[in-house]
Amino acid sequence: MSSFDYVVVGGGSAGCVLASRLSEDKSMSVCLLEAGPSDWHPAIHVPMGLLWMMRSPGMNWNLSTRPEAALAGRQLFWPRGKTLGGSSSSNAMCYIRGHARDYDEWASLGCKGWSFKDVLPYFKRSENQERGADEFHGTGGPLNVADLRSPNELSEAFVKAGVQAGFPHNRDFNGAQQEGVGLFQVTQVNGERCSAAKGYLTPVRSRPNLTVITGVQATRILTELGEHGAPRATGVQYNQAGTSRTVQAKREVLLAAGAIFSPQLLMLSGIGDQKALRDQGIACIKHLPGVGKNLQDHLDVMVVQASRKRVSYNLGPGNVARGPWHILRYLTRRDGMFTTNGAEACGFIKSDQAEEIPDLQFHFTPARLKDHGRNLSFLMGQGYSLHVCNLRPKSRGWLELASTDPLQPPAIHANYLSHPDDVVKMVKGVKHARRVLSQADMAPYRGKEILPGEAVRSDADIERFVRQHAETIYHPVGTCKMGLDEMAVVDPTLRVVGVEGLRVVDASIMPTLVGGNTNAPTIMIAEKAVDMIRDAR
Ligand SMILES: Cc1cc2nc3c(=O)[nH]c(=O)nc-3n(C[C@H](O)[C@H](O)[C@H](O)COP(=O)(O)OP(=O)(O)OC[C@H]3O[C@@H](n4cnc5c(N)ncnc54)[C@H](O)[C@@H]3O)c2cc1C
Repeated sequence: MSSFDYVVVGGGSAGCVLASRLSEDKSMSVCLLEAGPSDWHPAIHVPMGLLWMMRSPGMNWNLSTRPEAALAGRQLFWPRGKTLGGSSSSNAMCYIRGHARDYDEWASLGCKGWSFKDVLPYFKRSENQERGADEFHGTGGPLNVADLRSPNELSEAFVKAGVQAGFPHNRDFNGAQQEGVGLFQVTQVNGERCSAAKGYLTPVRSRPNLTVITGVQATRILTELGEHGAPRATGVQYNQAGTSRTVQAKREVLLAAGAIFSPQLLMLSGIGDQKALRDQGIACIKHLPGVGKNLQDHLDVMVVQASRKRVSYNLGPGNVARGPWHILRYLTRRDGMFTTNGAEACGFIKSDQAEEIPDLQFHFTPARLKDHGRNLSFLMGQGYSLHVCNLRPKSRGWLELASTDPLQPPAIHANYLSHPDDVVKMVKGVKHARRVLSQADMAPYRGKEILPGEAVRSDADIERFVRQHAETIYHPVGTCKMGLDEMAVVDPTLRVVGVEGLRVVDASIMPTLVGGNTNAPTIMIAEKAVDMIRDAR
């Protein structure tokens, strides 16, 4: 059995940070286990390749929820990255931190050290902001944050339309104020995706004290009885091309397999709700009823409109014929259509003036989207899509083991719209989206509304539309929540409650979903975890 000081499970947004930062200390050995392949594929690095990543059989877990009762019984597609960089290698590169109040809320729930004031230094430490450093931004960090090199004119028109609709123009959603409309900043460097792997891991792969093993899936956390009578994590069992192997952790096992697979691994290892584990025939070594519970995600719905001007990104014959020119432009200048991150413009708005902070987010895509861009015939036409999501849903879902086979994903019950307030927010969101798209600045482009379609007008009709068409915007969190109550899975130092030598460090630890995209917050969590792990030494 090989042995390391730290074994990190999962080489995604958080896992790459942990492996990179912990191996800065030459006296510490670190092993990173990643289920997917290395991140060599060009579709990862060329931003527009995200369209391919959405369908990739080998670099995407291609998960689905169980039938969702409030969404007409549909099973929703849940893509997750499966390669070095994890979901940061397939995401839309939008650089957003959430609202300062989100972190103050974590602190108020008992998560000492997680207020916005506490976490801001870690956002800054991770960042290389191309606009330069200021009170809110850092330079010199591994995660490059850039302005879009070639935003589509539709995205710029959307921003103007948002201002016409009464929202402030916002150049920096991660600065003093989140509210407003503007173009996203993106995690790109020199026109290429800057995943957590590219930013943190690739530059340090040659360190002798860092071992990265890809194509291996952790199947169980190995434990023994520790000094204080509590279970202690001693290593990890993993599957390598059908052979079971083990790796020993002298100091800690760090679970960073993401919001779906970290709780699954805990359950497979006997850490979870005692009764549920017993039902699966798994011996419970630590009763933690919160494992897999508290699942939260951003449910999203789109208003899709045809474009009269032929400027949108599409797979129509004209654009395809110009393909070689676009490729040449990308290869020689690293700009043009291939640098698009899909969702180019953003809005953080209040569904109602009574709201204290924005509760809805827009993502504007200068393309006609259906089924996560996987419906290629729909993508042939000229058009644009305005996504809207409810930033702080009250609905809670859960995960459970579908089987004891570690190679099978768990059953996902997102339980979207199970809280009536979430339905109301989505309906308001569609109305706001339509209002923005009907402004004069969109007039030169505006064709027929394709979705929901002109016939859908009343609140009841819009609600039906939401139930039939809403999808995930890919931000599941909360399934190993940090906290102090009986449903907490990790404490504020991210140690699994009642188990020694084991932490969870990824999006699953968020007690509540932040009001924004979740990649930068997950990287911040891992940066902060590194300091806590070092302090423990
Ligand atoms: C399509 C898509 C678009 C998104 N767009 C954005 C965006 O534009 N901006 C933004 O901020 N956020 C975005 N997100 C969300 C963001 O990328 C995630 O919240 C973030 O990457 C989560 O990081 P993580 O470390 O928790 O998990 P992940 O990055 O998913 O990493 C988990 C890793 O663990 C590996 N793994 C899982 N199980 C095992 C196992 N048993 N053994 C070994 N390895 C294992 C996985 O293969 C994966 O590499 C998007 C996500 C997706 C999927």
